[in-house]
Parts: sequence; structure tokens; C-alpha cells
Amino acid sequence: MTRIALLSQRLANQIAAGEVVERPASVVKELLENCLDAGADRIEIDIEQGGSKLIRIRDNGAGIVKDDLGLALSRHATSKIANLDDLENIASLGFRGEALASICSVSRLELTSRAQVATDDTAWRVEAEGQEMSTAISPAAHPQGTTVEVRDLFFNTPARKKFLRTEKTEFDRLEEVVKRLALSRFDVAFSLRHNQRVIQHLHAALSAQEQQRRVALVCGPAFVENSIQIDIEASGLRLWGWVSLPTFSRSQADLQYFYVNGRIIRDKLVSHAVKQAYQDVLFHGRHPAFVLYLDIDPAAVDVNVHPTKHEVRFREQRSVHDIIY
Ligand code: ADP
Ligand code: MG
Repeated sequence: MTRIALLSQRLANQIAAGEVVERPASVVKELLENCLDAGADRIEIDIEQGGSKLIRIRDNGAGIVKDDLGLALSRHATSKIANLDDLENIASLGFRGEALASICSVSRLELTSRAQVATDDTAWRVEAEGQEMSTAISPAAHPQGTTVEVRDLFFNTPARKKFLRTEKTEFDRLEEVVKRLALSRFDVAFSLRHNQRVIQHLHAALSAQEQQRRVALVCGPAFVENSIQIDIEASGLRLWGWVSLPTFSRSQADLQYFYVNGRIIRDKLVSHAVKQAYQDVLFHGRHPAFVLYLDIDPAAVDVNVHPTKHEVRFREQRSVHDIIY
């Protein structure tokens, strides 16, 4: 019999990375969520070779103070919640404190930041490689905000790397993540470059007209032309956004975006309500398109259901189903 031993921190992080870091797109999702949580309103994304060579994301958010830089890369370290009450009232996208630790256990990661509250005007940088974290924090040049650079994803986990698809496929998935997040925050400007080429360049969209334009850029102009805008309130819930007319249906359920308090989710209850609502006007096997936002009391929804936070649990399932239907 082999004896029981505690896993090394590095191995524990690599196991956790199995859940949250599946491919370049998942890295981009976690890093973008961090930028938004930091209050950034401008985010620049630079990608090389579909993200497996380089993912660099720069924001102009609140930044990280020098003394917290090392902690940011540690597992179970977060600035977003402190107690159980916070967990039941999550206002941020992240809260598990494991994304950066997971990512840096399977890549070469560099984190550079200048905090809004910094007393000097130096920025600081910390580097990690496969979780062999150099404790050395060095000064760097950086405006207020944070840049995270992730190189050579899965360089030390070849089994994982084998699951990566072609550069184009990985980039398409990554771009889809950027689109989803761009639709979640109209007030934030996003730019996305792949191998030095500009792919998306979205200015902050504050007016209704600009928001409509962003939806058209992300979902295609045909969607906007063939959809209606809704905004309704019932039993303490608000549901708003764009829903396609029956004449604009799709063969796949690929143009369906649903946000709960700004977080994109996939949920059976939501798909069921939408399907039911369209069932008399769409042919069998056709799918509607929609971009919908549900605003709900954070205490009425549990987001701590899945490591990637793609699923939620509604406390009042009936009223959520009803308002969508
Ligand atoms: P979580 O987002 O769940 O807290 P992460 O591992 O993603 O965990 O990040 C750890 C911490 O590092 C965050 O709580 C935050 O304080 C800090 N951080 C990460 N990225 C940024 C960023 N872009 N700007 C400011 N702070 C950041
Ligand atoms: Mg995070």
C-alpha cells in the first residue's frame, strides 16, 4: 500500500487548472473577468498563434499594490470576498481566487501592475513559470492598471497541449469569449489583435444607438435588423435586450446570449423558457437568436455552482421562467 501524502502546491494548482483552464479561450475569459472586476473601461487583448504562444491583456483598472502581487498568483487568494455573507451576495465576476494560480501553473506568466492607490509612481512586476514562482518582484514601467502576459500555455503539461485544436479553431473560440464579454459591458472599450492584426475594435457604447451598433458588430447587422428590443419588469426582475423575429431563425443555437447580472450563463431553465415562447412560430429544429439581460437581486441567484461559473442556480425558478416566457 502506498501511504497518503499531501499534494505539492504546484500539483494541486495543476489539478485545479484542469477545471478552469481548458484552452486559450478559458484563459482569456478569466483574465478579462479580472479586468472588469478591477473597474477597467479600456481593455486591450493581444494574441499570438491562437493564444497558445501568447495571450497579453492590458487594462486601465485599479491595479494591484506591490505587496499583493505575489498573493495574486496564489491559490485561494482573492480581494473579492472575505466571508460567507459576501459569497451569498456576489457582485464581482470572480471570487474563487484560483484563476491566476491555475493559469500560472501551466504557463509562463508575467503580471505587471500599477495600483491606483500606489504611493510612488513605479509599477511592479512578478513572474511565474509553471508555479516555480520567483519571489523577486521587480520595478517596471506601466500606466495605472494591469497587464497579464501568458506565454507557452501548457508547455509543462503535454497531455493537455495535445487537446488543442488548430490555431484558427482556438482563436475562433477565444474571439467568441471576447464577444460574450463585450456584450456584457457596453461601457467598456475592447480591442482584440491576432498576430498583429486588428480583429475587433469596439469603442465604449454609452447611448442606445451605440449599443445597438455594438450588437450589430458582434452578432452581425442582420440580427439587429431582424430583432425587436424588449425591456420589461415583473416581480422584482428586469429583462431587457434583443430577441429575433420568427423570420430570423438559425439552424444552430449559436446566437444566444443570456446574462444574469452581467455574467454570461448557460442554463436549461432559460433555454426551456425561450424554446417554449417560440414554439408556435418557429419550425422544428430552428433556433431563435437573442441577447438578453436579466437583472435580479444577487441574493436570489447562486453563482457558486461550477468552477467556470457558467451555471447558476435561481432561487425563484418559476418567476425567472415566467418573465422569459
Ligand atoms: P479572483 O478573480 O477569483 O479573485 P484570480 O486568481 O482571478 O481570483 O485573481 C486573484 C486576485 O488578483 C484578484 O482577487 C484581484 O485582487 C487581483 N487581480 C487579478 N487580475 C487583476 C487585474 N487585471 N486588475 C486588478 N487586480 C487583479
Ligand atoms: Mg478572477
